[in-house]
Amino acid sequence: MLHPSAARLSHFLPAGGLFLAGLAAAYVKDLNVFFTSLFNVLPTLVLLLGGAYCAVYRRQRELSLMVTVYIAYYLLDTQTDFYRDNGRVREDAAVIFHLTCLLLPVMYSLYAAWEERTHLAQDIVARLAVLLVVGSVALGLEQSYPLQVQNWLADIRWPALHGAWMSLIQLSYLMFLIGFGVLIWQYLAKPRPLHAAQLVGLLALFWALPKTFILPFTLNIMCSQVMLMIAAGVAHEAYQMAFRDELTGLPGRRALNERMQRLGRNYVLAMTDVDHFKKFNDTHGHDVGDQVLRLVASKLSKITNGGGKAYRYGGEEFAIVFAGKAIEECLPHLEVIRETIAKYEIQLRNKENRPQDDQQGRQRRGASAASSVSVTISIGVAERQPEHRTPEEVLKAADQALYAAKGAGRNCVMAHGQTSRRGAVRTTEAAS
Ligand code: GH3
Ligand code: MG
Ligand code: MG
Repeated sequence: MLHPSAARLSHFLPAGGLFLAGLAAAYVKDLNVFFTSLFNVLPTLVLLLGGAYCAVYRRQRELSLMVTVYIAYYLLDTQTDFYRDNGRVREDAAVIFHLTCLLLPVMYSLYAAWEERTHLAQDIVARLAVLLVVGSVALGLEQSYPLQVQNWLADIRWPALHGAWMSLIQLSYLMFLIGFGVLIWQYLAKPRPLHAAQLVGLLALFWALPKTFILPFTLNIMCSQVMLMIAAGVAHEAYQMAFRDELTGLPGRRALNERMQRLGRNYVLAMTDVDHFKKFNDTHGHDVGDQVLRLVASKLSKITNGGGKAYRYGGEEFAIVFAGKAIEECLPHLEVIRETIAKYEIQLRNKENRPQDDQQGRQRRGASAASSVSVTISIGVAERQPEHRTPEEVLKAADQALYAAKGAGRNCVMAHGQTSRRGAVRTTEAAS
């Protein structure tokens, strides 16, 4: 199943930035000695550091991708070095270049789409075995029948599809096309930073290969950038794992703690809790409870319109941070969210409630919303004041207000110090 709605531009930003930086560096003319020396060692350096990083995080897939890119770099770099030193290409340059252009997109896409499933050691052995088989067959053929292999690779199979702009063999374009198809599909099926990085990496290789003998250091720069993209993808996901709550997709408690250290002088904190959620879980089951938490989180995330940011505090409790705001500015937005959630009819998606066919589904919708439920939330709000100077104290005050909201019958917003759910929403403390 595809989830295009979960695709995010942010997934592409680190890899996109590295790609653009690589493009810019590749076009720089007259590099000084420092940069030529740097670019000569960069791919090896990135492989060693990035590879070690992937190994620590037990990311065999990314490690094998880096090794694939490095092997391609090494094979072609030997050729470009010879070309630079002698002013002509080596006699096996064409066959090596064509073979690399054919096998790089194949191996890259294969490893990128091959997710780690089995035991760590088995996975590495399987990936290595594929690399060894493909590599030795290619090397064997190239050594035994260099001319025949070169002619077979360079053959224009589909003259109608051949363009004058094509500087790689036709088969290579086909392989890149298949690779792009597979990786776009993979990203849409599982929109993750790493899948985005793999896709941009393939694009960077596609851009770099035709420039191998034309732009000096293109290969060194782009292969390093692709390996960096993959390492950055791993880092991006590790960050998300640490700071994002998996169930709701909201930033989690750790992210909140970090945010609370960087609040200025004026801010408002709100604590939100789902009403009677234990009973809800007991009645409808934990899975439905999880669905409801996801829904509540998605409604709370809309608080960005009011200048706030929602975090999952833990369980069925969410915290909202309004930086640089006064409590009067925040209360109307919180009230809107509370009301939206209370009015929302949640259609249950669990298996027992799912209609067996379209007709049954229509009958059910026509009859009554038997498979829909709703929940309410209570909200406690507090702002920074002389009595509550630290964010922790303000959060505690918001928690007390939440307790008061529960006591006042739930499904309401209470500010700290407010004594009843009716009347003005201004706090007694704010007024004093
Ligand atoms: P109150 O209106 O006073 O808040 O009542 P309550 O039942 O919501 O309060 P309580 O804090 O005792 O219950 C919280 C419940 O939330 C307990 C647990 O079953 C449920 N819960 C916590 N985390 C999760 C979760 O991740 N998924 C699901 N489905 N339930 C959760
Ligand atoms: Mg609770
Ligand atoms: Mg609750």
